[in-house]
Amino acid sequence: MKFIVPAREGRAVKILRGQTIRITTPKGAQAADFFAYNAEDLGEWLSANHTWATTFCVRPRAGDDFLSRFRRPMLRFAEDGAQGVHDMMIAACDQFRYEFFGHKGPHASCSENLCVAMRRLGHQIDVIPQPINFFTHTRVEADGRFVSPPNPVKPGAYVVLEALIDVVCVISSCPFDLGVEGWTINTAQGPSELIVEVS
Ligand SMILES: [Zn+2]
Repeated sequence: MKFIVPAREGRAVKILRGQTIRITTPKGAQAADFFAYNAEDLGEWLSANHTWATTFCVRPRAGDDFLSRFRRPMLRFAEDGAQGVHDMMIAACDQFRYEFFGHKGPHASCSENLCVAMRRLGHQIDVIPQPINFFTHTRVEADGRFVSPPNPVKPGAYVVLEALIDVVCVISSCPFDLGVEGWTINTAQGPSELIVEVS
């Protein structure tokens, strides 16, 4: 199965144990916020924090298992076609994030994309988990500052994850498009689509 997540939108898809999901940024440098839930119990979701406390690295690396908030393996990071440019620390953007940067009026967000995508499957989401942010370029400096230099991810970069249990995944094309100096997240050209392949 192959589908497109349009720029600024989100999509949910169920993946069975043993299947893989491949996420590609065809134009490059498009942040993909990634959420996952145990298909049998939506109260068990992928937890970035529990994952990096276990892998001892704040970046996901090929071979890592992504854990749930109950510390059970949910997905394996099978292949990294983006040279490690990912993040597990930035909370999903939401309306308040855009207002914080001075935006007036409604703005699409990864949090809203998650809720809408899950509602389409009949699920109400009340908590926004910390996502895995694929294709985002962040760094913790020696003095603790957290920075996001320009995004170097090339067109066609991808990641492949293998489901270790049946999971419902949500992929959001991060709509961040504000001209914030030192915090580019996506390219200056604005958000773009993502390609998702399940096999
Ligand atoms: Zn976002």
